[in-house]
Amino acid sequence: MDFPPIREELRGLEPYGAPQLDVPVQLNTNENPYGPSEACADDIAASVREAALTLNRYPDREHVALREALAAYLSRDTVAAGFSITPEQVWAANGSNEVMLQLLQAFGGPGRTACSFAPTYSMYPEYARDTLTRWVTGHRAEDFSLDVDAARELIEAEQPSVVLLPSPNNPTGTALPPDAIEVLCKATGAYGGLLVVDEAYTEFRREGTPSALELLPTHRNLVVSRTMSKAFALAGGRLGYLAADPAILDAIRVVRLPYHLSSVTQAAALAALRHAPELLGKVDDLRRERDDVVTWLRAQGLEVADSDANFVLYGRFEDRHAHWEALLAHGVLVREVGPAGWLRVSIGTPEEMAAFRDATTAVLATPAGTLMDPATEEDA
Ligand SMILES: *Cc1c(COP(=O)(O)O)cnc(C)c1O
Repeated sequence: MDFPPIREELRGLEPYGAPQLDVPVQLNTNENPYGPSEACADDIAASVREAALTLNRYPDREHVALREALAAYLSRDTVAAGFSITPEQVWAANGSNEVMLQLLQAFGGPGRTACSFAPTYSMYPEYARDTLTRWVTGHRAEDFSLDVDAARELIEAEQPSVVLLPSPNNPTGTALPPDAIEVLCKATGAYGGLLVVDEAYTEFRREGTPSALELLPTHRNLVVSRTMSKAFALAGGRLGYLAADPAILDAIRVVRLPYHLSSVTQAAALAALRHAPELLGKVDDLRRERDDVVTWLRAQGLEVADSDANFVLYGRFEDRHAHWEALLAHGVLVREVGPAGWLRVSIGTPEEMAAFRDATTAVLATPAGTLMDPATEEDA
């Protein structure tokens, strides 16, 4: 008899997660390399101290003050469209991973289907697995863009109750055009499904690309997921949130654990939101650094996916694991993720990116730098 008595389909599976290695240049989990300032840290500490005086009590289950602050923050993306996001439309949890798991708990389950389009975020099928939801994978085009007609056809055929669509996509960096979101909202809405646009990296998107938030007033079945983990420089705070129709929030309330968001988390996130301009202050620098590294990698003869995010997918290497290991030997940690032959590098400080370029130059001159033979690319 096998011990412990884990569910059959989980037996032998590895937990999800990038290696947490202690190396000088960590460019593998898409964090903002610039941490909060002393002033922001002081404000967080003071807010958490105040919360600590009432830690004998459970937190505000409805995290009202935080939802108000998040709604105000989101409304900056919708003023141009002439409306604001209300606290009744906002829900937060411990990272957007928890938000999306809650969506699957409420809207997935046995007899239901969820889907996304690969290559994409590898956590999505895990939410489905953990909620006993059938999982269907569609595929992106060769250039990682979404073939909207093919996506719509798959959605119409499979009728998933939840479609998870990141924009920009991870690990490719590809943003969705707004008309694509609208088409897929209609396709899912036609039979009563939800379209979840995961905007974890939206703050890094190109100028002029609207957020999916603008479509909320016209599409009841649209959910926009956000996080404070990336551009907002608060990955350690574990705070994700969504904006959607209040009826969708009522369904989430049924499945959420009691008091899921601690007083400490709420206090820290509220304090961080007061420092939003400062925490987001490096976003433009990171975008420029991203565009520079794309240009540089292409100049080295590498293939690079266009990116609207704070990371870049590049390749293709004959043996990407050897390339990844060789970079690590130079003290640079990138992510081995995505289709065969590709690697993903997160955008760090100028010094970190210089170290990445130096290490890459060195490794490209060795066997670990060998690029994929075009003949074998066809089968990749
Ligand atoms: C990093 C990331 C998230 C955010 O996860 P948190 O749980 O909020 O830290 C969500 N979606 C995608 C696609 C991501 O890459």
